[in-house]
Amino acid sequence: MPFKALHLSENVLRGVQAAGYTDPTPIQLRAIPAVLTGGDVIASAQTGTGKTAAFALPVLTRLGHHGRARVLVLEPTRELAAQVETAFRDFARFTDIRTVAVFGGVGYGQQRSELKRGVDVIVATPGRLMDYLQDRTISLQDISILILDEVDRMLDMGFLPVVKDIVARCPRERQTLFFSATVPPEIAAIASFALRNPTKVEIGIARSVNESVKHALYPVAAEQKFELLEALLAKTDFDSVLVFSRTKHGADKIARRLKTANHSVAVLHANRSQNQRIEALAGFKSGKYEVMVATDIAARGIDVAGVSHVINYDVPEKPEDYVHRIGRTGRAQAVGDAFTLVTPENAGDIRDIQRFIGQKIPELKLEGFNYRPIVARPAQEYAPGGAHSKPSRQGGWNRFGGGGGRRRARY
Ligand code: AMP
Repeated sequence: MPFKALHLSENVLRGVQAAGYTDPTPIQLRAIPAVLTGGDVIASAQTGTGKTAAFALPVLTRLGHHGRARVLVLEPTRELAAQVETAFRDFARFTDIRTVAVFGGVGYGQQRSELKRGVDVIVATPGRLMDYLQDRTISLQDISILILDEVDRMLDMGFLPVVKDIVARCPRERQTLFFSATVPPEIAAIASFALRNPTKVEIGIARSVNESVKHALYPVAAEQKFELLEALLAKTDFDSVLVFSRTKHGADKIARRLKTANHSVAVLHANRSQNQRIEALAGFKSGKYEVMVATDIAARGIDVAGVSHVINYDVPEKPEDYVHRIGRTGRAQAVGDAFTLVTPENAGDIRDIQRFIGQKIPELKLEGFNYRPIVARPAQEYAPGGAHSKPSRQGGWNRFGGGGGRRRARY
Protein backbone atom coordinates (compact mmCIF):
# COMPACT_ATOMS: atom_id res chain seq x y z
CA MET A 1 0.00 0.00 0.00
CA PRO A 2 1.47 3.39 -0.96
CA PHE A 3 1.56 6.43 1.36
CA LYS A 4 -1.20 7.92 -0.80
CA ALA A 5 -3.70 5.36 0.46
CA LEU A 6 -3.08 6.25 4.12
CA HIS A 7 -5.27 9.41 4.24
CA LEU A 8 -2.45 11.80 5.02
CA SER A 9 -3.03 15.43 4.08
CA GLU A 10 -1.92 16.59 0.66
CA ASN A 11 0.83 18.83 2.05
CA VAL A 12 2.19 16.14 4.34
CA LEU A 13 2.24 13.71 1.41
CA ARG A 14 4.34 16.20 -0.51
CA GLY A 15 6.72 16.33 2.45
CA VAL A 16 6.98 12.53 2.44
CA GLN A 17 7.76 12.54 -1.27
CA ALA A 18 10.35 15.27 -0.87
CA ALA A 19 11.98 13.21 1.89
CA GLY A 20 12.41 10.47 -0.72
CA TYR A 21 10.35 7.89 1.11
CA THR A 22 9.06 5.13 -1.09
CA ASP A 23 6.55 2.78 0.47
CA PRO A 24 5.49 2.84 4.13
CA THR A 25 7.34 0.50 6.47
CA PRO A 26 5.29 -2.04 8.51
CA ILE A 27 5.06 0.21 11.57
CA GLN A 28 3.94 3.13 9.41
CA LEU A 29 1.24 0.95 7.83
CA ARG A 30 -0.08 -0.02 11.26
CA ALA A 31 0.46 3.13 13.28
CA ILE A 32 -0.57 5.88 10.83
CA PRO A 33 -4.25 4.83 10.59
CA ALA A 34 -4.38 4.30 14.38
CA VAL A 35 -2.97 7.76 15.10
CA LEU A 36 -5.29 9.37 12.54
CA THR A 37 -8.34 8.13 14.47
CA GLY A 38 -7.27 10.37 17.36
CA GLY A 39 -7.06 7.50 19.86
CA ASP A 40 -4.12 6.56 22.08
CA VAL A 41 -1.47 4.23 20.71
CA ILE A 42 1.16 2.14 22.44
CA ALA A 43 3.76 0.81 20.05
CA SER A 44 6.74 -1.39 20.63
CA ALA A 45 9.19 -1.05 17.82
CA GLN A 46 12.91 -0.72 17.68
CA THR A 47 14.52 2.35 16.19
CA GLY A 48 15.36 2.02 12.53
CA THR A 49 11.90 0.74 11.67
CA GLY A 50 10.59 4.11 10.53
CA LYS A 51 9.04 4.93 13.90
CA THR A 52 9.48 8.70 13.63
CA ALA A 53 7.45 9.05 10.44
CA ALA A 54 4.91 6.61 11.87
CA PHE A 55 3.92 9.26 14.41
CA ALA A 56 5.04 12.51 12.74
CA LEU A 57 3.04 12.10 9.52
CA PRO A 58 -0.40 11.47 11.04
CA VAL A 59 0.22 14.05 13.76
CA LEU A 60 1.04 16.74 11.17
CA THR A 61 -2.03 15.71 9.21
CA ARG A 62 -4.17 16.07 12.33
CA LEU A 63 -2.70 19.50 13.08
CA GLY A 64 -3.44 20.91 9.64
CA HIS A 65 -2.34 24.52 10.10
CA HIS A 66 -0.30 26.75 12.35
CA GLY A 67 -1.97 27.55 15.65
CA ARG A 68 -1.08 27.09 19.31
CA ALA A 69 1.52 24.71 20.81
CA ARG A 70 -0.52 21.54 20.46
CA VAL A 71 2.04 18.75 20.21
CA LEU A 72 4.67 17.78 22.77
CA VAL A 73 7.21 15.08 21.97
CA LEU A 74 9.46 13.90 24.81
CA GLU A 75 12.81 12.36 23.93
CA PRO A 76 15.46 10.92 26.25
CA THR A 77 18.53 12.53 24.65
CA ARG A 78 19.45 15.81 23.02
CA GLU A 79 20.52 14.07 19.84
CA LEU A 80 17.18 12.32 19.51
CA ALA A 81 15.29 15.52 20.19
CA ALA A 82 17.28 17.26 17.46
CA GLN A 83 16.80 14.37 15.04
CA VAL A 84 13.07 14.00 15.60
CA GLU A 85 12.49 17.75 15.34
CA THR A 86 14.38 17.78 12.04
CA ALA A 87 12.15 14.97 10.75
CA PHE A 88 9.02 16.88 11.79
CA ARG A 89 10.32 20.02 10.11
CA ASP A 90 11.16 18.15 6.90
CA PHE A 91 7.74 16.53 6.68
CA ALA A 92 6.07 19.85 7.49
CA ARG A 93 7.95 21.86 4.89
CA PHE A 94 4.88 22.32 2.67
CA THR A 95 2.73 23.41 5.60
CA ASP A 96 2.87 26.49 7.83
CA ILE A 97 3.36 24.36 10.94
CA ARG A 98 6.29 25.41 13.13
CA THR A 99 8.45 23.14 15.22
CA VAL A 100 11.09 23.70 17.86
CA ALA A 101 13.67 21.50 19.55
CA VAL A 102 14.13 22.17 23.25
CA PHE A 103 17.12 20.55 24.95
CA GLY A 104 19.88 21.30 27.39
CA GLY A 105 23.57 21.91 26.90
CA VAL A 106 23.00 24.94 24.69
CA GLY A 107 21.98 28.53 25.50
CA TYR A 108 18.40 29.52 26.18
CA GLY A 109 18.29 32.54 23.88
CA GLN A 110 17.46 31.01 20.54
CA GLN A 111 15.02 28.44 21.94
CA ARG A 112 13.23 31.22 23.82
CA SER A 113 12.90 33.42 20.76
CA GLU A 114 11.58 30.52 18.65
CA LEU A 115 9.08 29.72 21.39
CA LYS A 116 8.02 33.36 21.52
CA ARG A 117 7.36 33.43 17.79
CA GLY A 118 4.83 30.67 18.34
CA VAL A 119 5.24 26.98 17.59
CA ASP A 120 2.92 24.04 17.01
CA VAL A 121 5.24 21.15 17.82
CA ILE A 122 7.72 21.08 20.72
CA VAL A 123 10.27 18.27 20.71
CA ALA A 124 11.98 18.29 24.09
CA THR A 125 14.15 16.50 26.57
CA PRO A 126 12.57 16.45 30.04
CA GLY A 127 15.16 18.58 31.90
CA ARG A 128 15.14 21.66 29.69
CA LEU A 129 11.39 21.43 29.24
CA MET A 130 10.98 21.60 33.03
CA ASP A 131 13.11 24.77 33.08
CA TYR A 132 10.74 26.41 30.61
CA LEU A 133 7.66 25.18 32.44
CA GLN A 134 8.97 26.58 35.68
CA ASP A 135 9.70 30.02 34.26
CA ARG A 136 6.47 29.89 32.21
CA THR A 137 8.17 30.22 28.83
CA ILE A 138 6.18 27.13 27.85
CA SER A 139 2.63 26.32 28.80
CA LEU A 140 1.18 22.89 28.16
CA GLN A 141 -2.43 24.00 28.39
CA ASP A 142 -3.13 23.59 24.66
CA ILE A 143 -1.31 20.28 24.21
CA SER A 144 -3.70 17.93 22.47
CA ILE A 145 -1.16 15.31 21.36
CA LEU A 146 1.52 14.01 23.71
CA ILE A 147 4.19 11.69 22.35
CA LEU A 148 6.42 9.77 24.73
CA ASP A 149 9.25 8.32 22.66
CA GLU A 150 11.88 5.77 23.72
CA VAL A 151 10.26 5.44 27.13
CA ASP A 152 12.44 2.50 28.14
CA ARG A 153 15.50 4.69 27.67
CA MET A 154 13.90 7.44 29.75
CA LEU A 155 13.51 4.85 32.48
CA ASP A 156 17.20 3.94 32.24
CA MET A 157 18.14 7.58 32.53
CA GLY A 158 16.05 8.11 35.62
CA PHE A 159 13.59 10.41 33.85
CA LEU A 160 10.38 8.62 34.79
CA PRO A 161 9.43 10.85 37.77
CA VAL A 162 9.83 14.01 35.68
CA VAL A 163 8.04 12.39 32.74
CA LYS A 164 5.15 11.57 35.07
CA ASP A 165 5.13 15.17 36.25
CA ILE A 166 5.05 16.45 32.67
CA VAL A 167 2.23 14.06 31.72
CA ALA A 168 0.24 15.31 34.72
CA ARG A 169 0.65 18.91 33.53
CA CYS A 170 -0.90 18.15 30.12
CA PRO A 171 -4.65 18.47 29.64
CA ARG A 172 -6.54 15.27 30.42
CA GLU A 173 -8.35 15.45 27.11
CA ARG A 174 -5.58 14.59 24.72
CA GLN A 175 -4.19 11.91 22.46
CA THR A 176 -1.16 10.08 23.84
CA LEU A 177 1.27 8.07 21.74
CA PHE A 178 3.70 5.87 23.57
CA PHE A 179 6.79 4.25 22.06
CA SER A 180 9.08 1.87 23.85
CA ALA A 181 11.22 -0.94 22.48
CA THR A 182 10.48 -3.00 25.59
CA VAL A 183 7.72 -2.72 28.16
CA PRO A 184 9.02 -3.82 31.57
CA PRO A 185 6.64 -3.41 34.58
CA GLU A 186 7.73 0.15 35.47
CA ILE A 187 6.91 1.20 31.94
CA ALA A 188 3.59 -0.65 31.91
CA ALA A 189 2.75 1.39 35.04
CA ILE A 190 3.53 4.69 33.30
CA ALA A 191 1.58 3.52 30.26
CA SER A 192 -1.52 2.80 32.30
CA PHE A 193 -1.16 6.20 33.94
CA ALA A 194 -0.73 8.07 30.65
CA LEU A 195 -2.87 6.16 28.15
CA ARG A 196 -6.58 5.48 27.71
CA ASN A 197 -7.74 2.39 25.81
CA PRO A 198 -4.66 2.39 23.61
CA THR A 199 -4.43 0.58 20.31
CA LYS A 200 -1.45 -1.75 20.53
CA VAL A 201 0.98 -1.79 17.65
CA GLU A 202 3.74 -4.34 17.80
CA ILE A 203 6.11 -4.78 14.94
CA GLY A 204 7.61 -8.24 14.67
CA ILE A 205 9.11 -9.27 17.93
CA ALA A 206 10.35 -6.17 19.68
CA ARG A 207 13.56 -7.96 20.44
CA SER A 208 14.46 -9.01 16.92
CA VAL A 209 17.62 -7.70 15.36
CA ASN A 210 17.40 -6.02 12.02
CA GLU A 211 17.39 -8.83 9.49
CA SER A 212 19.61 -7.10 6.98
CA VAL A 213 22.44 -7.02 9.52
CA LYS A 214 25.02 -9.79 9.52
CA HIS A 215 26.47 -10.17 12.96
CA ALA A 216 29.34 -12.07 14.47
CA LEU A 217 31.20 -12.61 17.71
CA TYR A 218 34.97 -12.33 17.80
CA PRO A 219 36.38 -14.09 20.87
CA VAL A 220 39.63 -12.53 22.03
CA ALA A 221 41.83 -12.26 25.11
CA ALA A 222 41.03 -9.09 27.09
CA GLU A 223 44.51 -7.64 26.58
CA GLN A 224 44.23 -8.01 22.81
CA LYS A 225 40.90 -6.24 22.35
CA PHE A 226 42.35 -3.03 21.00
CA GLU A 227 44.72 -4.89 18.68
CA LEU A 228 41.80 -6.88 17.30
CA LEU A 229 39.75 -3.72 16.82
CA GLU A 230 42.57 -2.21 14.79
CA ALA A 231 42.97 -5.39 12.77
CA LEU A 232 39.24 -5.52 12.06
CA LEU A 233 39.30 -1.90 10.92
CA ALA A 234 42.30 -2.59 8.72
CA LYS A 235 40.79 -5.71 7.15
CA THR A 236 37.27 -4.46 6.66
CA ASP A 237 36.04 -2.47 3.77
CA PHE A 238 33.97 0.04 5.71
CA ASP A 239 32.36 3.37 4.97
CA SER A 240 31.71 4.44 8.51
CA VAL A 241 32.05 2.52 11.74
CA LEU A 242 30.37 3.05 15.06
CA VAL A 243 32.38 1.61 17.96
CA PHE A 244 30.56 1.10 21.26
CA SER A 245 32.18 1.33 24.65
CA ARG A 246 30.43 0.68 27.94
CA THR A 247 31.94 3.69 29.66
CA LYS A 248 32.74 7.30 28.83
CA HIS A 249 36.29 6.84 30.00
CA GLY A 250 36.66 3.73 27.83
CA ALA A 251 35.27 5.62 24.82
CA ASP A 252 37.84 8.40 25.27
CA LYS A 253 40.62 5.88 25.58
CA ILE A 254 39.64 3.94 22.47
CA ALA A 255 39.30 7.18 20.51
CA ARG A 256 42.74 8.37 21.63
CA ARG A 257 44.36 5.13 20.58
CA LEU A 258 42.57 5.10 17.23
CA LYS A 259 43.68 8.67 16.58
CA THR A 260 47.26 7.68 17.32
CA ALA A 261 46.78 4.93 14.75
CA ASN A 262 45.79 7.61 12.19
CA HIS A 263 42.05 7.07 12.06
CA SER A 264 39.78 10.09 11.91
CA VAL A 265 37.69 9.68 15.01
CA ALA A 266 34.72 11.35 16.73
CA VAL A 267 33.59 10.64 20.29
CA LEU A 268 30.02 10.82 21.56
CA HIS A 269 29.17 10.48 25.22
CA ALA A 270 27.31 12.32 27.91
CA ASN A 271 30.36 14.07 29.40
CA ARG A 272 31.10 15.96 26.22
CA SER A 273 29.72 19.45 25.79
CA GLN A 274 26.69 19.87 23.60
CA ASN A 275 28.79 21.62 20.98
CA GLN A 276 31.26 18.75 20.95
CA ARG A 277 28.39 16.30 20.59
CA ILE A 278 26.87 18.23 17.70
CA GLU A 279 30.26 18.52 15.98
CA ALA A 280 30.99 14.81 16.47
CA LEU A 281 27.69 13.74 15.00
CA ALA A 282 27.77 16.21 12.12
CA GLY A 283 31.36 15.22 11.30
CA PHE A 284 30.48 11.55 11.38
CA LYS A 285 27.44 12.09 9.19
CA SER A 286 29.38 14.14 6.66
CA GLY A 287 32.20 11.60 6.44
CA LYS A 288 34.80 13.82 8.09
CA TYR A 289 35.21 11.11 10.72
CA GLU A 290 35.31 7.49 9.59
CA VAL A 291 34.93 6.14 13.10
CA MET A 292 32.71 7.29 15.93
CA VAL A 293 33.24 5.90 19.40
CA ALA A 294 30.11 6.16 21.53
CA THR A 295 28.41 5.01 24.69
CA ASP A 296 24.90 3.58 24.65
CA ILE A 297 23.02 6.52 26.05
CA ALA A 298 24.55 9.01 23.66
CA ALA A 299 23.99 6.88 20.62
CA ARG A 300 20.51 5.57 21.28
CA GLY A 301 18.23 6.11 18.32
CA ILE A 302 20.79 8.10 16.40
CA ASP A 303 20.09 7.86 12.71
CA VAL A 304 23.18 8.01 10.58
CA ALA A 305 22.59 6.86 7.04
CA GLY A 306 25.38 4.70 5.75
CA VAL A 307 26.79 3.30 8.99
CA SER A 308 28.32 0.23 7.44
CA HIS A 309 29.64 -1.38 10.60
CA VAL A 310 28.93 -1.47 14.28
CA ILE A 311 31.68 -2.84 16.49
CA ASN A 312 30.87 -3.63 20.09
CA TYR A 313 34.24 -3.08 21.69
CA ASP A 314 32.51 -3.93 24.95
CA VAL A 315 29.58 -6.31 25.14
CA PRO A 316 26.50 -4.30 26.12
CA GLU A 317 25.36 -4.59 29.68
CA LYS A 318 21.74 -5.18 28.78
CA PRO A 319 20.55 -7.48 26.01
CA GLU A 320 18.18 -4.83 24.65
CA ASP A 321 21.14 -2.50 24.14
CA TYR A 322 22.58 -5.08 21.76
CA VAL A 323 19.50 -4.69 19.58
CA HIS A 324 19.71 -0.92 19.76
CA ARG A 325 23.38 -0.80 18.92
CA ILE A 326 22.96 -3.16 16.02
CA GLY A 327 20.00 -1.04 14.92
CA ARG A 328 22.47 1.74 14.09
CA THR A 329 23.52 -0.17 11.02
CA GLY A 330 21.25 -1.71 8.41
CA ARG A 331 18.68 1.04 9.01
CA ALA A 332 15.76 1.03 6.63
CA GLN A 333 16.85 -2.09 4.78
CA ALA A 334 20.45 -1.18 4.05
CA VAL A 335 22.98 -3.93 4.71
CA GLY A 336 25.42 -3.60 7.56
CA ASP A 337 27.76 -5.69 9.64
CA ALA A 338 27.95 -5.89 13.39
CA PHE A 339 30.90 -7.34 15.23
CA THR A 340 31.19 -7.96 18.94
CA LEU A 341 34.50 -8.49 20.70
CA VAL A 342 34.04 -11.13 23.38
CA THR A 343 36.26 -12.06 26.29
CA PRO A 344 35.61 -15.05 28.56
CA GLU A 345 34.08 -12.75 31.21
CA ASN A 346 31.32 -11.88 28.75
CA ALA A 347 30.04 -15.44 28.35
CA GLY A 348 27.01 -14.84 30.57
CA ASP A 349 26.08 -11.57 28.84
CA ILE A 350 26.38 -13.22 25.42
CA ARG A 351 24.09 -16.04 26.55
CA ASP A 352 21.55 -13.43 27.69
CA ILE A 353 21.78 -11.58 24.38
CA GLN A 354 21.30 -14.75 22.34
CA ARG A 355 18.32 -15.72 24.45
CA PHE A 356 16.90 -12.21 24.10
CA ILE A 357 17.15 -12.09 20.32
CA GLY A 358 16.24 -15.76 19.96
CA GLN A 359 19.17 -16.70 17.83
CA LYS A 360 22.75 -17.83 18.10
CA ILE A 361 25.36 -15.39 16.88
CA PRO A 362 28.13 -17.10 14.93
CA GLU A 363 31.68 -16.94 16.29
CA LEU A 364 34.36 -15.87 13.84
CA LYS A 365 38.14 -15.60 13.86
CA LEU A 366 39.91 -12.90 11.96
CA GLU A 367 42.27 -14.56 9.53
CA GLY A 368 45.92 -13.63 9.91
CA PHE A 369 45.45 -12.15 13.39
CA ASN A 370 48.02 -13.32 15.87
CA TYR A 371 45.72 -14.57 18.62
CA ARG A 372 47.11 -15.08 22.09
CA PRO A 373 45.55 -17.90 24.11
CA ILE A 374 42.21 -16.87 25.56
CA VAL A 375 42.32 -17.74 29.22
CA ALA A 376 39.23 -17.48 31.36
CA ARG A 377 39.74 -15.84 34.74
CA PRO A 378 38.60 -17.94 37.67
CA ALA A 379 34.83 -17.56 37.92
CA GLN A 380 34.79 -16.01 41.39
CA GLU A 381 36.99 -13.18 40.17
CA TYR A 382 34.27 -11.76 38.00
CA ALA A 383 31.07 -13.34 39.23
CA PRO A 384 30.74 -13.00 42.97
CA GLY A 385 27.70 -15.30 43.21
CA GLY A 386 29.14 -18.01 40.96
CA ALA A 387 29.71 -17.99 37.24
CA HIS A 388 27.80 -15.20 35.51
CA SER A 389 25.44 -14.58 38.35
CA LYS A 390 23.79 -11.20 38.27
CA PRO A 391 22.84 -10.08 41.74
CA SER A 392 20.92 -7.04 40.63
CA ARG A 393 20.30 -5.31 37.36
CA GLN A 394 19.98 -1.91 38.95
CA GLY A 395 22.89 -2.18 41.31
CA GLY A 396 25.43 -2.82 38.58
CA TRP A 397 27.11 -6.18 38.50
CA ASN A 398 30.48 -5.87 40.01
CA ARG A 399 31.85 -8.64 37.92
CA PHE A 400 35.42 -7.56 38.44
CA GLY A 401 34.49 -7.46 42.10
CA GLY A 402 36.39 -7.88 45.26
CA GLY A 403 39.47 -5.79 44.79
CA GLY A 404 39.76 -2.16 43.90
CA GLY A 405 36.32 -1.09 44.99
CA ARG A 406 36.15 1.25 42.02
CA ARG A 407 32.66 1.58 40.69
CA ARG A 408 32.34 1.59 36.99
CA ALA A 409 31.38 4.97 35.62
CA ARG A 410 28.27 4.47 33.55
CA TYR A 411 27.76 5.95 30.09
P1 AMP B 1 13.46 5.81 12.41
O1 AMP B 1 13.12 4.44 12.89
O2 AMP B 1 12.28 6.73 12.44
O3 AMP B 1 14.65 6.39 13.12
O4 AMP B 1 13.85 5.72 10.84
C1 AMP B 1 14.97 5.01 10.40
C2 AMP B 1 15.45 5.45 9.01
O5 AMP B 1 14.58 4.97 8.00
C3 AMP B 1 15.51 6.95 8.82
O6 AMP B 1 16.70 7.24 8.12
C4 AMP B 1 14.33 7.28 7.96
O7 AMP B 1 14.56 8.43 7.17
C5 AMP B 1 14.21 6.04 7.12
N1 AMP B 1 12.81 5.74 6.70
C6 AMP B 1 11.75 5.68 7.53
N2 AMP B 1 10.63 5.38 6.85
C7 AMP B 1 10.99 5.23 5.56
C8 AMP B 1 10.28 4.91 4.35
N3 AMP B 1 8.96 4.67 4.35
N4 AMP B 1 10.98 4.86 3.21
C9 AMP B 1 12.30 5.09 3.20
N5 AMP B 1 13.04 5.40 4.30
C10 AMP B 1 12.40 5.46 5.46
